[in-house]
Amino acid sequence: MITEKPFCVTGASGFIASHIISQLLAKGYRVRGTVRKNPRQYDFLMNLPGAARNLELLEADLLRKESFGPAFRECEYVIHTASPYKINVKNPAKELVAPALEGTAAVMETAREAGTVRRVVLTSSVAAITDEPDSTRVFTERDWNTRSSLVRHPYHYSKTLAEKAAWEFIAREKPGFDLITINPAMVTGPSIGPGINTTNAMIRDIMQGVYPGIMDMNWGFVDVRDTARAHILAMETREASGRYLCSAGLMHMRELVELLNLSGYRNYPLPKQDLTGKIGTALLTALSWTQPRDTGTYIRTHIGRSIRYGCSKIKQELAMSFMPVMQSILEAVDDMVRKGYLLSPENRNRQISAEKKR
Ligand code: NAP
Repeated sequence: MITEKPFCVTGASGFIASHIISQLLAKGYRVRGTVRKNPRQYDFLMNLPGAARNLELLEADLLRKESFGPAFRECEYVIHTASPYKINVKNPAKELVAPALEGTAAVMETAREAGTVRRVVLTSSVAAITDEPDSTRVFTERDWNTRSSLVRHPYHYSKTLAEKAAWEFIAREKPGFDLITINPAMVTGPSIGPGINTTNAMIRDIMQGVYPGIMDMNWGFVDVRDTARAHILAMETREASGRYLCSAGLMHMRELVELLNLSGYRNYPLPKQDLTGKIGTALLTALSWTQPRDTGTYIRTHIGRSIRYGCSKIKQELAMSFMPVMQSILEAVDDMVRKGYLLSPENRNRQISAEKKR
């Protein structure tokens, strides 16, 4: 136990934050979570074991700095996860950059004003490391995304600007607390709250025939429970410092489709056509121009290239170990099927014909 005081977790309703809160409560910590709507609307959090005694939810919005004051009162540790995680937005400056950047500035300033904060852990992302794989090298914490902009990977841009602003605040203001960032790869696994996270939605789309074929593309993945644990270890490990890349391993789209085929999902409309060769890559690059802007950019900057992350820092300094990527993905799929977010082909056909009749 590093503190008797409440931990503050911003964006408590989120996929990652709800696991952080669940683990903090299981360890006996008191938690104050910030949410956007009426705090009474979050039964899935208030029903967590230990929540009745140790969880308090308060309203705060990233665009209203003053709203964080009550949540940070007396806190020694703040975990800032809140930030929009969306691709293909209409107005990236307003929908992504403003809440990410202004929200992070608000959190840092409010933490200083509270006067009791010792450490802020910020959920950054591999998006702040790079927005483009480079098959010739391994990315590490020393790398910064220098290429994103409002028109090229605006989500990546928002995460990069927010993390940079947090480090600049520490260097400029010397506020008396330290900053750690966790930079997770694609986070998968079962969710505590309702709805589907953007990363799990990508897996759902692969299983619902959205992709024309198997593309030459790979991703780093990490389980949501491991991601949550990394945040808590970053709080509990006194010597922790700087950025921590957080990825359990890599998976190529071909391996992902193979895994699903071999795990009982063969009857789903998984991509069949292998488009991983040179001709397939050229075809998909051409087709990418017909996609929504940010999906198109993603395809063009990722296809035919391989990403690699070096995660020795988090393993050595925080003693992190990771669940296998396959297990996390299969548990995410199982969770989406159980909750009705991923319909079996039979149920999907039934739903489509019912919608047609209406
Ligand atoms: P999520 O489920 O969408 O959670 C985002 C959280 O941010 C939600 O609680 C959301 O509140 C809150 N939020 C968004 N805009 C806000 C605003 N204007 N004011 C207050 N709260 C606001 O996504 P997640 O995956 O858990 O993401 C959490 C963090 O991890 C984000 O910083 C994201 O960039 C980062 N990350 C995620 C992944 C991944 O693969 N999932 C990978 C790397 C990094 P509402 O519930 O009210 O919308």
